[in-house]
Amino acid sequence: MEHHDAIVIGGGVIGTSIACHLARLGAKRTLLLERGQLGGGTTAQSSCILRTHYSVRENVVLAQAAMRVFDDIAAYLDDPEADCGYRRCGYLIVAPDGAPADAVRASLAIERELGIEARELDLAEARERHPLLNYDDVAVVGWEPGGGYADAYLTLTAFARAARRAGAIVREGVAVTGLARDAHGRVVGVTTATGTIGAGVVVSAQNIWSREAARWAGLALPLTLSRHSVMTLEAETPYGRELPVVKDLASPGRIYFRGYGGRQVLVSEGNEGVDIAEPDTGQAEVPLDEVVRVGEQLVHRMPAFGSAGLAASWTGVYDVTPDWNPVLGPVDGVPGLVLACGFSGHGFKLSPVVGRLVAQCALGLAPDLPLAPYALARFAERRLLAGRYGAGAVS
Ligand SMILES: Cc1cc2nc3c(=O)[nH]c(=O)nc-3n(C[C@H](O)[C@H](O)[C@H](O)COP(=O)(O)OP(=O)(O)OC[C@H]3O[C@@H](n4cnc5c(N)ncnc54)[C@H](O)[C@@H]3O)c2cc1C
Repeated sequence: MEHHDAIVIGGGVIGTSIACHLARLGAKRTLLLERGQLGGGTTAQSSCILRTHYSVRENVVLAQAAMRVFDDIAAYLDDPEADCGYRRCGYLIVAPDGAPADAVRASLAIERELGIEARELDLAEARERHPLLNYDDVAVVGWEPGGGYADAYLTLTAFARAARRAGAIVREGVAVTGLARDAHGRVVGVTTATGTIGAGVVVSAQNIWSREAARWAGLALPLTLSRHSVMTLEAETPYGRELPVVKDLASPGRIYFRGYGGRQVLVSEGNEGVDIAEPDTGQAEVPLDEVVRVGEQLVHRMPAFGSAGLAASWTGVYDVTPDWNPVLGPVDGVPGLVLACGFSGHGFKLSPVVGRLVAQCALGLAPDLPLAPYALARFAERRLLAGRYGAGAVS
């Protein structure tokens, strides 16, 4: 029987990062199995915003470590051709008075405690950083100069290439249909249409399809799925490359927006989305009333986009856990299986560090940052990683 040190199920940005780190940490016989094509899952739909701004301290720690990789992925992967398309334009978050403003200030304080450059801007400086914004209903402007956005395809292919260079095998067009377990219940491989493939450890990085792995393993995985629309709007006024990513907690849909090249701005609501029952990466219609609703929020914050027209729209699905934070690590009662799922709409920015930590854990090495807070058991034990922003991907 074909046998590997480790098998990773799923070839998105998380799975390729895990495979790359497994191989680089010494699991030379690492196999990544992807049902479709690399990046064909929700990674392709990501807005790819990078920030360390979180209200959950554990997330700030992870995002800070991930940001160091995005900062110089070529050096990190020891591959001069590796690129992630990082546009370091800054991350600006505005909030109205009360609890949202308090949450922004508390999150900035956590960032600073951890040595990240992040602070509150006064209105004069805010207008300098982003002259197109209306600050009338804003009580606080938070600023993280190191934030910005990257490119999903470049990032994923950098990880996949690094995985292959370190000896991993990446196989597309192979669907995993189940887990192979020994007499003691240990996961010892996976089943596919063409037979069983053995492995020392199996890592599921199946994202919105992770309930498959839970079913195979007999696990209760509290994962719901929600669909989110993203649109790009084009106006006469260019959204210059120097303009930051904006998160608007004062808008009803808590929109975020960022440059999308030329005169276009990418915008989406940061709310709970539309619940869907089954995973689906097919494109749903983005109704005109939704375009109008999101457009109105954008124009309120950025009046120069008053005459903007719709350039493009698409939908993508989040894998949401009860506290809007991921599930990472081994699973009680199912030795040999490691999970990396439940990213709740903010997994792209964490992908480099999640890949490293999950690979360390899969190989029985001590993770160099704490993974325990992200254990699946936290839901049953009521140790939720709840932040000050409530439901939504800010976390
Ligand atoms: C609209 C949208 C906007 C977002 N914006 C941001 C953002 O700005 N910043 C941020 O940090 N994050 C963002 N995210 C979240 C981020 O993009 C995701 O968390 C991340 O891309 C998920 O990567 P993944 O590898 O887990 O999943 P995917 O890319 O979906 O990969 C999972 C893969 O597993 C494969 N698979 C599943 N089951 C099997 C099986 N049985 N056998 C073989 N293969 C299988 C699938 O085919 C798929 O390719 C956004 C997400 C969406 C949807």
